[in-house]
Amino acid sequence: MTDSNPQRVALVTGASRGIGRAIALRLAADGRHVVLMSRSEGPLTEVRSLIEEAGGHASVCACDVGDASALAAAVEGVISEHGRLDVVVNNAGITRDGLALRMSDEDFLDVLNVNLMSCFVTCRTAARAMMKQKFGRMVNIGSTSGVVGNAGQANYAAAKSGLIGMSKALARELGGKGITVNVIAPGFIETDMTANLGDAVKNKVLEGMALRRLGTPEDIAAAVAYVSSDEAGFLTGQTICVDGGLTMC
Ligand code: NDP
Repeated sequence: MTDSNPQRVALVTGASRGIGRAIALRLAADGRHVVLMSRSEGPLTEVRSLIEEAGGHASVCACDVGDASALAAAVEGVISEHGRLDVVVNNAGITRDGLALRMSDEDFLDVLNVNLMSCFVTCRTAARAMMKQKFGRMVNIGSTSGVVGNAGQANYAAAKSGLIGMSKALARELGGKGITVNVIAPGFIETDMTANLGDAVKNKVLEGMALRRLGTPEDIAAAVAYVSSDEAGFLTGQTICVDGGLTMC
């Protein structure tokens, strides 16, 4: 899906690997200039090379999204460098799984900080530019954990569920300015994040899925491509579970 305006600038956090990398490649293939963000430059430079080899445009912005002031400054920097920011995809995320009875305050707060607070900071900073443009697409990557819960993920489910409430509030605040805010909630996707799940867990998940396969990063990128496109201008405040029919909610 190629938008009519080739100048659109998209920021993708967590673009060094997994789902964020696939989103970045897809948005670049769809004609956006993609700003690639995660903690270290090396892997981002490799993603940029892939995009450029395919004829697309990208730049690298190394930043720890868990550092709110550094993140706000980095997003401001992107806006001043390009003169605009059309799409933000808040995808960077971590897990610190464990049963709640044994979960430390630190593991709870770290997950909230990286998975939720960072999205607030990015959206708040981007909103100023998007309001001036009277156009914006905010896409927050949630999880089915935040929709139906998951044992061992009280921290992660809280963060991802918070993302849904925050996105609905922002959708109501910013809708009048042509800005849409949606959540894409993946189910089980084959990335580093799920690589260490044992076969028993994977098989149990597969049994509960209508499509009987784990998702790919490209499955998620396809959904983000639509939600962030110009033509998705009547879709806001939604949570779309891209999960192979795991939750069906
Ligand atoms: P990966 O672990 O494969 O990749 C995580 C990405 O986030 C990396 O690019 C990493 O970059 C970046 N990142 C992590 N911490 C930070 C930080 N503090 N600052 C900047 N970047 C950071 O995860 P996935 O691709 O699997 O997940 C992507 C998103 O999708 C996450 O939000 C996750 O919660 C969500 N999700 C994933 C599911 C799955 O099954 N895989 C299911 C449901 C949701 P680097 O380490 O280079 O900084």
